[in-house]
Amino acid sequence: MTIAPNQKQTRKFKEAEVYKNQSDSYYLLPFKFKSLNNNYDIITNDLGDFVIIAKGIVHKIVTKQFKKEDDLELYYELLVNFIISETTVPELLEVIVARYRTKKSFLDHFTSLHIFVISLRCEHTCHYCQVSRVTQNKDVFDMSFFHIDEGIKLMMQSPNPNVTMEFQGGEALLAFERIKYAVAKAKVEAEINNKNIAFVICTNLAPITDEILDFVNEHEILISTSLDGPKFIHNENRKRPGNNSYELTLDGIAKCRSVLGEDKVSALMTTSALSLKHPKEIIDEYVNNGFANIFLRPISPYGFAKYNPNKNHYFIEEFLDFYKEGLVHILNYNKQGVFLAEDYASIILKKIFTPFPVGYVDLQSPAGVLNSVVVFNYDGKVYASDEARMIAESKDFKFQIGELGKNTYNEIFYGDKALEISETWCNESLAGCSDCAFQPYCGADPVLNYTTQGDLYGFRPTNIFCKKNMEIIKFLFELMIEDKENERIFKSWITGFQS
Ligand code: SF4
Repeated sequence: MTIAPNQKQTRKFKEAEVYKNQSDSYYLLPFKFKSLNNNYDIITNDLGDFVIIAKGIVHKIVTKQFKKEDDLELYYELLVNFIISETTVPELLEVIVARYRTKKSFLDHFTSLHIFVISLRCEHTCHYCQVSRVTQNKDVFDMSFFHIDEGIKLMMQSPNPNVTMEFQGGEALLAFERIKYAVAKAKVEAEINNKNIAFVICTNLAPITDEILDFVNEHEILISTSLDGPKFIHNENRKRPGNNSYELTLDGIAKCRSVLGEDKVSALMTTSALSLKHPKEIIDEYVNNGFANIFLRPISPYGFAKYNPNKNHYFIEEFLDFYKEGLVHILNYNKQGVFLAEDYASIILKKIFTPFPVGYVDLQSPAGVLNSVVVFNYDGKVYASDEARMIAESKDFKFQIGELGKNTYNEIFYGDKALEISETWCNESLAGCSDCAFQPYCGADPVLNYTTQGDLYGFRPTNIFCKKNMEIIKFLFELMIEDKENERIFKSWITGFQS
């Protein structure tokens, strides 16, 4: 290194006066901080504890110009939230350790969710879907019995004592006979291997029959369906012969509720370009149909937009406007006594207010891929996540980690591809995230980084995952600063009880 003649070669200690003026009553614990708005900053630690303080105070804390007697209340708030400590090693270090371990406890048992893409056939032609096939050819697009058996064998090798077998499509119910076979087989194997097993069927509900409902009821299977909003949005997004997807979905929801119970059916919505203009109408539809929650989800950028850009392409900023308008509308419902939670916000709020991990694969660090979820595709190929198999539909097999019946558990879950993904699945070690104050509330998504930015690592300043989470987390805090009632409502979403 060349040193310019006038460049300092040493760093001198500051004058003694500087240190004399520093508070000696506390030590700084590891924390991060960020500007929330013109008036407030937020300080967070790795546990997700936070303190919101007036602008300018963070600098005083960092330089230890902030004194206990300046603001006793703030001092103790910083202390109890493990931002500062009165001893070099915090007296409650064991508590910090236990809470951190709890936050990461989703890692204790490894993969729980096993997605079986039981068929790629579908009678819908939703414009944002690129995976379904409108065909009667079961041999080509249904999962073979051999692959079902091999998938169950792998699922039983998961170290996790609690596993979920989720049937997806295409339209999963078109392969109902295979679902029946798979459930029966998995139940026997779960008994032998001492595992608790839960079942989920993702379905548009169009093919549901009394026979299917009886089976679902008998085996306590949860139903997850799609409801994109009112008729004019749902039927525009989710095309099928007769253009009656909306009617069939509502009819199916009613049937499921009457046989299975109100809480056994959940619905998801996908935001198309048309939906962007109608957040309130979509939310009203969910309230009118008796749902207590709604998940405002953007379209996944896994090649869909390429297929139908007019209907599917929009910028993340447009989705964020939609989301914010929707969230305020949802809060207004709650203020009028109607309990309605927004699921994405609820996941983040659980991270903000509780020491518990969230079971949502897209907001975990280490990422949910493999750690929480794995996908067995209809053709026996194994993918790191649902999004990873969607990428494969565009002939990009980057995240194909093995094949059922060919590769062993270790080759799939600990092979070279899994190791490559693991290098970028912790936001604690990603540039941009590692010093971000929202890192404990956020996650890592190497699959999304790869799809949108060309590599697994990603580049935060232009990353849509980052943009979305940064804006939404900030907005949640802003809403809580603006109105204490919002904070009370948010906390009720975590507990599920209206206070
Ligand atoms: S993705 Fe963005 S918001 Fe999330 S932790 Fe990383 S830098 Fe922060």
